[in-house]
Amino acid sequence: MIDFHSHLDLYPNALSLLPRVAQENRFTLVVSTSPKAWQATSKVFAGYANIKVALGLHPEIAVAKAAEKHLLVSLIAQAEYIGEIGLDGSPRFKSSLTVQRAILDAVLAECERVGGRVMSLHSRGAVDQVLDALAAHPMAGTAVLHWFSGTNRQLSRAVEQDAWFSVGPSMIASEKGRQLVAGMPKSRLLLETDGPFATKPNGEPWFPWETASVTTLLCDVWKLQREEVCSQLLSNLELITRGGA
Ligand SMILES: [Zn+2]
Repeated sequence: MIDFHSHLDLYPNALSLLPRVAQENRFTLVVSTSPKAWQATSKVFAGYANIKVALGLHPEIAVAKAAEKHLLVSLIAQAEYIGEIGLDGSPRFKSSLTVQRAILDAVLAECERVGGRVMSLHSRGAVDQVLDALAAHPMAGTAVLHWFSGTNRQLSRAVEQDAWFSVGPSMIASEKGRQLVAGMPKSRLLLETDGPFATKPNGEPWFPWETASVTTLLCDVWKLQREEVCSQLLSNLELITRGGA
């Protein structure tokens, strides 16, 4: 239906998946992990109006790709969507937070300069820092926090800052994830898979059309029928993709 955070280019059989993704999903946002990957993937994935490739630099590889920061910033003017960007403060990556933050600030400043962008953001272990960066660049555009894993207090803060959220099947596998979903505004929620990084219990990646479990949870949380949930999600999608958010 909707996958607003997919790493479709990283599936071993990416090209053969494209027609099915285009057919099964109303919209798929393919986030890239580096500006060079964005340049290559945009060319290869061109031709499907409902599959967009977002320009990004994944915070986990901020140090390895730091030299691509200028390329990243220089491409923002021509990119319709931005992602994956953000910060990772988990034990493995927190030593590079300074480098990560410099990249994020540069991206947000350029997004402001070009009139704002829809951005898919990673915030694991660094929600407050991501929200600080967004608050410092209020005209950067619409922020979609993917796989949000902060505290309830951080969720309230994100909601106050009018952030959006993309929720996937792996996120709702935990009680904490399900609880967070219940605190997200209906009008600010989208679906995602984060595949192939996010996987099913059997280790197979989630495919971009496999978000039905999230819709089922939303029926429960919102006390709505499946059709009503789908129509809410589609109107959210329409709002964010037309730039009206
Ligand atoms: Zn991701």
